[in-house]
Amino acid sequence: MRVVVVGSGTLVPDPERGPCALLVEAAGRRVLVDGGSGTLRSLARLGVRPETLDAGVYSHRHLDHIGELPTLLFHFDCFGRDRAYPLYGGGGLAAFVERLDALHGDLHERYALPVVELSLREADAVELAPGFLLRTAPAAHKHGALHLSFEADGVRVVFSGDTGPSPALVALATDADLLVTECAFAAPGVGHLCPADVADLVAEARPRRVVLTHLYPEVDGEVALATVRAAGAPVERAFDGWSHSSASRLSR
Ligand SMILES: [Zn+2]
Ligand SMILES: [Zn+2]
Repeated sequence: MRVVVVGSGTLVPDPERGPCALLVEAAGRRVLVDGGSGTLRSLARLGVRPETLDAGVYSHRHLDHIGELPTLLFHFDCFGRDRAYPLYGGGGLAAFVERLDALHGDLHERYALPVVELSLREADAVELAPGFLLRTAPAAHKHGALHLSFEADGVRVVFSGDTGPSPALVALATDADLLVTECAFAAPGVGHLCPADVADLVAEARPRRVVLTHLYPEVDGEVALATVRAAGAPVERAFDGWSHSSASRLSR
């Protein structure tokens, strides 16, 4: 499994960091996870063409995470995508896509756009491809927010999405190979994590590797890293293009 942080930024424009987006690749599939406005450009900077994307998974519907979706779909329609583009996300995603369709009219005339909604009340799961599982749990945030866990070949990569402190995230991230976690706030607040919250999370869940992303400008990156490292976690700060590859656990 390979994970690439496509955009490590936030809703605040930053010349060095695109809006939240990841790529997760496993079982021969390339999945775009989130994608705020500007994600197509972020992908282009990494040499990734939109037509190589097999599916989209959305942690929630805040625009810094989903704002590029209409542009991406319009791109597919204009340049002749000839296969389905499945979308996965929390309850409400199908209605969101229907409204986009009604606004823009011609987003997916040439290809199918199946939408799979995952539970906002309890843990859920869906197979993205044979042997490539997406498990989800409700996050402590708004707009249909989920934690996402990608699993293939015995490797597990967990993305917090946007969230406040969440026992469901601790459960998903326990012993994960990689935890990609937001760290949006400098101090405790509602709906996002601060460095002390992330330190508590990793002290409990003990993921093998941690990368911090989605830091708003008020968060001092060095302080955040030091705080999380003090909890005993191997932690880095994401940048656009940061990547992680895990071989199968079976072959280690
Ligand atoms: Zn959000
Ligand atoms: Zn966000």
